[in-house]
Amino acid sequence: MPAIEKLLIANRGEIALRIHRAAHEMGIKTVAVHSTADADAMHVRLADEAICIGPPAAADSYLNIPAIISAAEISGADAIHPGYGFLSENAKFADIIEEHGIIFVGPKPEHIRTMGDKIEAKRTAGALGLPLVPGSDGPISDLAEAKAIAAAAGYPVIIKAASGGGGRGMKVCTSEDQLETLMQQAGSEAKAAFGDATVYLEKYLGNPRHIEFQIFGDGQGNAVHLGERDCSLQRRHQKVLEEAPSPAISASERARMGGIVAKAMADMGYRGAGTIEFLWEDGEFYFIEMNTRLQVEHPVTEMITGLDLVREQIRVAEGLPLSVTQDEVEFAGHAIECRINAEDPKTFAPSPGKVEYFHAPGGMHVRFDSGLYAGYRIPPYYDSMIGKLIVYGKTREAAMMRLRRALEETVIEGVKTTIPLHQALLNEPDIQNGDYTIKWLEEWLNNALESK
Ligand code: ADP
Repeated sequence: MPAIEKLLIANRGEIALRIHRAAHEMGIKTVAVHSTADADAMHVRLADEAICIGPPAAADSYLNIPAIISAAEISGADAIHPGYGFLSENAKFADIIEEHGIIFVGPKPEHIRTMGDKIEAKRTAGALGLPLVPGSDGPISDLAEAKAIAAAAGYPVIIKAASGGGGRGMKVCTSEDQLETLMQQAGSEAKAAFGDATVYLEKYLGNPRHIEFQIFGDGQGNAVHLGERDCSLQRRHQKVLEEAPSPAISASERARMGGIVAKAMADMGYRGAGTIEFLWEDGEFYFIEMNTRLQVEHPVTEMITGLDLVREQIRVAEGLPLSVTQDEVEFAGHAIECRINAEDPKTFAPSPGKVEYFHAPGGMHVRFDSGLYAGYRIPPYYDSMIGKLIVYGKTREAAMMRLRRALEETVIEGVKTTIPLHQALLNEPDIQNGDYTIKWLEEWLNNALESK
């Protein structure tokens, strides 16, 4: 594969800027694409070229495959990076890019396809030797079969949509007499949301952590793991704060589990960045899904490994080997990321609008990934995340102190943000001690409401 000279970034916001930065540091020119609502966005201003691809609605712009391919052809881009969200896990998009002789900075389309179907993903993960949540081996429609599988796994069980995503289409079932009704409900909800009524069933873990491994493959049968991230702090299955390493697992556990996932990815011939997500309870890992793209929370991994993951993605897309072997990957210190959303910190109602004043935090080991500037108008059409604050410390405690200090420094006026939520979380002993699971934040928010 030839070296990439011009990269089209098929995304917006902080991730578009993140990709632009890595590209420019490699001497690669960038092409921004944008909707009419994003004409003034920072990534559009910084890119070497910018092309408007449609009106504000994502379906007509950031999801508009013909418009994006035309932009690549007009600008002469030789590669496309999809970022996260939007078309990043759309196998058809990857196929079309490759059919046009353009380099797709991402995995092989067949792997995107396999991992995009949750039942296929689970089967593949099982065959590759990853530990699974006990449950059905495939789709389930027959009630008697469902009863037998649920009894074997033990109640409660969770009914999930094969095409599910974003935490939707899931039903928790605590006893056999509810099974029939909940299966029907899950099926019709899945049909309405994803156009596919297929459901499957697995054991519902009572109080797990969400721990995911970052992996990288070169597509030639070599793969490394870059350790884990703990993303247990979630609201409505959406991550709020992430850290690496996980406060719950030891270095030997990391090496053991990391070795298993890296071998699985090598055997699969996986290409590029990927994340293997697990639930973790009582010392055991259970695979739930794989994301075949860069994750929002990738910077915490960059902070503790010193690697630039977007640079690695571009290298692999160019056909180069990974820049490190497993033995050369070193883990040092601790990193935490806060997702800063333009939302009311109590009700979580979106708060788009004009940023009247903005001051970014700085200082040693502080990183602020964002497209914000004073005078910027946050459009109401897209995700409410407007920035990510990432800090590094030698120890977890040092990182927590630095995060507190950096949040104090951050000033965003004109819109509401979730900064006060993060500040309140840092005062909680459970957060300070790393003692939290995927249930923790929802319970804490409920208690805060009741005590009012
Ligand atoms: P999605 O693709 O919709 O995000 P996931 O399978 O990744 O769905 O699950 C999202 C979240 O739902 C997990 O992070 C976890 O909080 C919860 N969850 C999923 N499966 C289980 C399970 N078997 N037991 C308990 N919680 C689960």
